[in-house]
Amino acid sequence: MPSKKSLNRKTLPPLVKVSFAARLARPWLSGIGESMWVLKLTGTKMRGAGLLANQPCQLPYGRLGDLVLYATDQPHEKPEALVVEQPNLEQDLKAMFNGNAKAWAAAATRSRDECKTLLNQLNSAKCRRAMARIEKFRQRILGCAICGARDRWWMTTDEKWALVPKRFRQKVLCRRCFAVFTARENNYGSKSKEGSRTMDL
Ligand SMILES: [Zn+2]
Repeated sequence: MPSKKSLNRKTLPPLVKVSFAARLARPWLSGIGESMWVLKLTGTKMRGAGLLANQPCQLPYGRLGDLVLYATDQPHEKPEALVVEQPNLEQDLKAMFNGNAKAWAAAATRSRDECKTLLNQLNSAKCRRAMARIEKFRQRILGCAICGARDRWWMTTDEKWALVPKRFRQKVLCRRCFAVFTARENNYGSKSKEGSRTMDL
């Protein structure tokens, strides 16, 4: 398996770390997924397509040199693999497996057009639906915007949520931090009780 270092030459396109779910593009299903490097041939770090630069260990799909379409809406989260396909053009997989930079550069040149075609699939209804489901799933496991704690999914009323300062309303909060905002509102105008928690925001 080529290491990141062996591929990270000036002559080669950049590598992007991508999440591969146990079942392709379905991270909410159980099973062991893998994070692997993708040699980006088109697009950006957040939405792009390229060549799989690792040989998967346990995934039931994908192999080194495959074309990968990936995307995320969150700049701080790894993109998720949405489509994995075998390239139509022959590649020197053995040399690529051995981390031969020349073989990777040749494969990159040959696969660029296929990757551009693949990137266009991002606008398809199927990919947009997959992205929406993945982002919804990720929202559930995002940590609290204040303390970083990861609560189980919970909900509150719109009225109570309106007590949260505007800058946090589009974010995820844990129950404890949320309780601080609601307690603060309840104590408004009265002496705050001994032991009540305050937060420095
Ligand atoms: Zn919190």
